[in-house]
Amino acid sequence: MEKPCLSIVVPCYNEESVLGAFYEEITKTAEEIRELAECEFLFVDDGSKDGTLSILKGLAEKDERVSFISFSRNFGKESGIYAGLSNAVGDYVVLMDADLQHPPCYIPEMLSTILTGEYDSVAMRREDRKGEGKIRSWFSRMFYKLNKKISGVEIVEGATDYRMMTRQMVNAVLDMPEYNRFTKGIFAWVGFRTKWLSYHNVERVAGETKWSFGSLVRYSINGIISFSTVPLAISSFLGVFFCIFAFVMMVWLIIKTLIFGNHVSGYPTIVTVILFMSGLQLMMFGVLGQYISRSYLEGKHRPIYIAREKKVKKKKNSDEE
Ligand code: UDP
Ligand code: MG
Repeated sequence: MEKPCLSIVVPCYNEESVLGAFYEEITKTAEEIRELAECEFLFVDDGSKDGTLSILKGLAEKDERVSFISFSRNFGKESGIYAGLSNAVGDYVVLMDADLQHPPCYIPEMLSTILTGEYDSVAMRREDRKGEGKIRSWFSRMFYKLNKKISGVEIVEGATDYRMMTRQMVNAVLDMPEYNRFTKGIFAWVGFRTKWLSYHNVERVAGETKWSFGSLVRYSINGIISFSTVPLAISSFLGVFFCIFAFVMMVWLIIKTLIFGNHVSGYPTIVTVILFMSGLQLMMFGVLGQYISRSYLEGKHRPIYIAREKKVKKKKNSDEE
């Protein structure tokens, strides 16, 4: 029987300092699983401004298992993942970071688990957030809690993008052609049987993280908005609540005026109420705006990425074989 093919998809953005080490590790792993599967290494250069692309070209020249796609500019990791998944030829696909924070040593275990056919996906979750700032990990814990509460899809806490999937699941993920991609949510949304393995957080080997606090906040908001419309319902709820409140207040004011007469006072109360209400209205407009802007962008049907250069393998059932 022919050995199955495992595609290893790696999004890279300015990773010249780690690619050498990554390639070395990943080829060792490929050697370890040689009996079980053949490997394809598919690197996605997400518009890097350093030597990433030339390193990838060098690797592709000396090793025919290496393929690459290079974007015309930086499109973001989510686009990189999409490009990788859509160009991978494997029967199984594993997604991992270039900085060795997703240790390749788990690949043999993931592969043997998925080969049993009992699971459609094997995903890694971080048990701890060693080496990450306290405030940052507090915020991300809050994000997972909030997300679980308000959107139907449950994202396991500490879930990473390090995950192996069957071809069937990859195709399901690719069938979601949305422009605003929140891959963690997509993986949870498509369902399938997933086995979770835990590992301890490791720090980046070299280079630096591409995430600032601001970009993490944007990422979280995107995560919630992509999978839930609950924030939209909040405004209706608040609206009803304040109408009832205003009505009760009105009745109370009428009774009070009838009994005690009308003294003009309460200026601070009025100002506070007006400020609060207009703040609330603006905030809910903002929420509405987030959804409208997203459907506006979806409606444009822009491509998720634009490749400037690529060298990828032909899919199995295309004319080659
Ligand atoms: N990455 C990417 N495009 C981006 C940002 C990051 O392809 O715009 C890649 C990056 O090269 C790495 C992975 O995504 O392989 C994770 O990025 P990083 O290590 O910066 O994130 P962290 O591990 O700090 O969450
Ligand atoms: Mg990293």
